[in-house]
Amino acid sequence: MRPEALNSLFVEVEALEGVGPKLRRPLEKLGLARIKDVAYHLPDRFVERRAVIDLDDAGVGENIVVSLTVREHRSPSGRGPFRVLAEDAVGNVCTLTYFGRASYTAKKQLPVGETRWVAGRLDQYGQMLQIVHPEHVSESASAPLGQLREAVYPLSEGLTQGRVAGLVAQALKGLPELPEWIEPGLLAKTDWPAWHTAMRVAHKEPDAAARDRVAYDELLANALALMLVRQSNRSQRGTPMAGDGSLRSKLRLPFALTGAQKRSIAEIEGDMAQSAPMLRLLQGDVGAGKTVVALSAMLIAVEAGAQAAMLAPTEILARQHFETLRKMLEGTGVEIALLTGRDKGKAREAILMGLVGGSIQIVVGTHAIFQDTVEYRNLALAVIDEQHRFGVGQRLMLARKGRRTPHTLAMTATPIPRTLTLAQYGEMDVSKLDELPPGRQAIDTRVVSVERMGDVVGALTRHFETGQQAYWVCPMVRESENDDLAAAEARYAALKERFGEDVVLVHGQLRPEAKDAAMERFAAGEAKLLVATTVIEVGVDVPNATLMVIEQAERFGLAQLHQLRGRVGRGSEKSTCLLLRGQSLSETAKQRLALMRETQDGFRLAEEDLELRGGGELLGTRQSGDTPFRIASLEQIQKLLPLAHDDARLLIERDGGLSGSRGEAARLLLYLFERDWGVQLLRGG
Ligand code: ADP
Ligand code: MG
Repeated sequence: MRPEALNSLFVEVEALEGVGPKLRRPLEKLGLARIKDVAYHLPDRFVERRAVIDLDDAGVGENIVVSLTVREHRSPSGRGPFRVLAEDAVGNVCTLTYFGRASYTAKKQLPVGETRWVAGRLDQYGQMLQIVHPEHVSESASAPLGQLREAVYPLSEGLTQGRVAGLVAQALKGLPELPEWIEPGLLAKTDWPAWHTAMRVAHKEPDAAARDRVAYDELLANALALMLVRQSNRSQRGTPMAGDGSLRSKLRLPFALTGAQKRSIAEIEGDMAQSAPMLRLLQGDVGAGKTVVALSAMLIAVEAGAQAAMLAPTEILARQHFETLRKMLEGTGVEIALLTGRDKGKAREAILMGLVGGSIQIVVGTHAIFQDTVEYRNLALAVIDEQHRFGVGQRLMLARKGRRTPHTLAMTATPIPRTLTLAQYGEMDVSKLDELPPGRQAIDTRVVSVERMGDVVGALTRHFETGQQAYWVCPMVRESENDDLAAAEARYAALKERFGEDVVLVHGQLRPEAKDAAMERFAAGEAKLLVATTVIEVGVDVPNATLMVIEQAERFGLAQLHQLRGRVGRGSEKSTCLLLRGQSLSETAKQRLALMRETQDGFRLAEEDLELRGGGELLGTRQSGDTPFRIASLEQIQKLLPLAHDDARLLIERDGGLSGSRGEAARLLLYLFERDWGVQLLRGG
């Protein structure tokens, strides 16, 4: 049960004044569902304005507040903007420029002959000074002059700065006082304000201490929750399992295991022989050979007379894993089944029976495998592929399926830097496949300006003539989902016009059946070109696809580009990756793409990407989806996460966990950041 002190923070945003049905979607887009989300919706940056009397005293590009008298309205001739000519106190003329519908409000706000306080960015347009879309226009001086510094919030379509600021102000008004959960020593050393103050200050000024404190809270909540998982896991009884090797010796692999694979398998074997359940992450680049490591782990369980389950994030992947594993298992006599949400009726019944009766020893599937209706006779190992797609909460669901807590092997191909590994998987031990199987060819990676689209299509034509296939990837970002989808569809249409029926399209909004059908055509070689948004990111394996084109490559994270690129270079033919870039790129963007050309080492890419972005970042902005955090920036994660982990460990191991007064406060913190599965574990265990 959530502590009462937090109740007011968890009230729905609808309770705020002025939030009706119209704002629901825009707020939802920003993830603002409850008052606390609004309170934690921190500014991206602040504008600092200067009050001037004489426009000549202001510089072009400066944010100013000035009193202007309106002289004339100039309605557009044709498609031009609406302009208001106005004069400052000493007679300098300035144009206030409005595009589109904003002109209606402007007409009302700025009647000819009246004087108004105007806030905005002073620009020059030809010989003329101008302010495009002033941020504030008001009759009284107090509002603009009283707020020379103003927060700039992340927005979504349908929201304005003023609106968001108003909602934040309301949310902050009702902010409760909460007890301190940060270690007193750390608080003294850092000079961070208390929570309540920090929240207010973070919205008011670019104050590093306040901002850090708030980010630290988020990091600490995460670290604490992971620590609790780890601790509870240690106290569980699992089933110690020593496989006798009888099945593994029957595997006839067409290759020798790499050193890294052998080492990882040995680490897993060691864990599984213990009575505390294994909690291990297998980290390895795309193509590093995680599947065979997972298979070995599953066979240890089967050799010991138990069952193993492998969870994949998508249907396609589950199916592919199933096929691969089934082939590898030929001749071992091991019974393997596939279970996904699409299995219905008799087929499904048969699998469920096999699992509860124990005749099925290994099951591969989507989240369907841990639904309530699925029971196992003796589940002893859960393998979770592409771990980053699942939250810790889901992981725990699967862990509850065994009579005893099963051993867990999580796998990820997402190369993330060390600090983020700690953030995401801090509760796990890590095995790393840092060595690719021999004989992999380097992928020829090139950065090409989008202006050379004609050449790219030409290259594609020649590529198809050799009988090989290709991928074409378009970006898909949540914030601009609709535009991105439209762009992908337009690209598909254009390529289809050029290459005919041999082109298929896959994106996240397609029905799963349609998606699978397209993928299957491509995998079977019937389609030559797969146009896709990032759904192909994980797992897909088509060795004959040897060319990858990635559009607007600068919009992707390097880890993501790296994973996409990993789809090619899987066969014996030489592979190419073309990174199409926009016309104007920032220096950082250029460096990042150059790095892609330079290395194929996912771990190195991850570390350097963090460096590159960390430095050049605006306050608080970052690629969404990269980290499990909403508030902490990459820089803050690097700086503060190790502290948070130490703090969390001390609290759990030395300071009595969640009992005691700081423990009580820490419990609040876990609820505040919705890491309360940590608390629940503690109660259950
Ligand atoms: P991952 O899941 O880590 O991306 P996979 O397990 O799918 O990688 O392996 C990629 C490819 O490499 C597969 O075709 C697999 O059979 C092959 N492979 C795995 N281990 C080795 C090895 N030691 N030597 C040669 N090929 C290997
Ligand atoms: Mg894999």
